[in-house]
Amino acid sequence: MSHASPSWVDFHCHLDLYQDHLGVIRECDARRIATLAVTTTPKAFARNVDFALGSPYVTVGLGLHPQLVAERSDELPLFERLLECTDYVGEVGLDASPRFYASFQQQRRLFDRILRACSEQGGKILSIHSVRSVAWVLGSLEENLKNPTCIPVLHWFTGTKSEAHRAIEQGCYFSVNAEMMRNAKTHALIRFIPEDRLLTESDGPFVQFGERPARPSDMPETVGLLAAIKNTDSAHLAEQVLKTLRAIQSIEPAVREGKQRSLFKQP
Ligand SMILES: [Zn+2]
Repeated sequence: MSHASPSWVDFHCHLDLYQDHLGVIRECDARRIATLAVTTTPKAFARNVDFALGSPYVTVGLGLHPQLVAERSDELPLFERLLECTDYVGEVGLDASPRFYASFQQQRRLFDRILRACSEQGGKILSIHSVRSVAWVLGSLEENLKNPTCIPVLHWFTGTKSEAHRAIEQGCYFSVNAEMMRNAKTHALIRFIPEDRLLTESDGPFVQFGERPARPSDMPETVGLLAAIKNTDSAHLAEQVLKTLRAIQSIEPAVREGKQRSLFKQP
């Protein structure tokens, strides 16, 4: 069965944290939203793959969230075993905010190991958390993710303009959400990032969209917000985001033994 190409991209959504996750998947299918369902622990991966099995638009990322590293570091071997099953990795990264600072050194060790494992296998697309730790994240990527077939996507980037410059030079992409764009301080940063390095995300259900948690179906409005900041029209930007998704998916299809990453679906 073939499916129509996606119309929208939600590159970072915590699908398993919605009470009606099956309803969210139905929305993704009905509105053709290519959605990356990030997970926070390797144990959650299999369950998420089960949810998404029938959906041509939802793909599951293998994650180990930096805020959970203190309790879940023993799941690293499971992460390493599952890594071969997927091209998508997330949510991973570092968090140096006060609440999680106690585990920061441990987070760094785990993140480095994750990046090295991704680099060894090649062909991975990563959704990366970098709260108060952009310089560390970029340093780790430079050191450990040397395989050019791996693509880092910085989710909810909050670094400085010079850090954004460094990230762009290192080949990073950026996924932006509505809450991020509501803060006018980010506008100059978003204008600085080239259009072909930007993806959209909901980061639902953590991010609020008006009075309710954000959903993948908010992507048309999110694209509209992004287009206004970039001073371009929404239809153009929607097309650009899809083009960017296709570009990162086809960086090195040879590593999948000639198998193209179809639409947005795991092989
Ligand atoms: Zn997240």
